[in-house]
Amino acid sequence: MARNNALSYFGLLSADYRTIVLIGPGGVGKGTVARRLIERNPALWLSRSWTTREQRQSEKGNEYVFVDREHFERAIENNVFLEWAEFHGNLYGTPVPTPATGQDVLLEIEIQGAQKVLDQHADAVVVLLVPPSVEVLQRRLEERGDHADHVAKRLTSTPDELEIGRNLAQHVVINEDLEAAVDEILSILRGPHRDR
Ligand code: 5GP
Repeated sequence: MARNNALSYFGLLSADYRTIVLIGPGGVGKGTVARRLIERNPALWLSRSWTTREQRQSEKGNEYVFVDREHFERAIENNVFLEWAEFHGNLYGTPVPTPATGQDVLLEIEIQGAQKVLDQHADAVVVLLVPPSVEVLQRRLEERGDHADHVAKRLTSTPDELEIGRNLAQHVVINEDLEAAVDEILSILRGPHRDR
């Protein structure tokens, strides 16, 4: 159980929550799985990240807080983020979480960020989402409207994301069928956690 020591120390607020980190290569479906997880379990609080990347045409605009680099860098200086990382030339960051009492925090981030979260919350539960195959991953990246060169670039980091991800995660879930993957993660969260 992660503790926000400053708040707990004063005994005014109970800020205890568990941190659940969903990692996996781009295109594996982390965002869809994360949104379904919070629909299925309202005790999960999904963090909304900031990013400097352009909004995709397929996005509604609420997926991230979209900001320019200057704005993002000012936020880093002002300690807005629990963690942040640069990924394929863009900055991504998780604001310090503010879940309601009784809620657990769900993060959907890449591996450098997951490592930084673990440095602060060694007891975070890390779940690696993997595609059924590289072909399926490529198709999903293409279907979300990314340019071919962007898809190719994204696929170059997949082996690292999987290898490092396997070392960080206590649980590996194959995202072949959305509801089956969500069921599996919810059951993982209900059960005991093995040590990393
Ligand atoms: P995309 O551009 O495809 O939305 O995201 C690229 C990668 O950045 C994905 O692996 C996504 O999970 C990750 N990401 C999204 N938000 C954050 C964040 O706040 N911090 C970090 N470190 N990675 C993030």
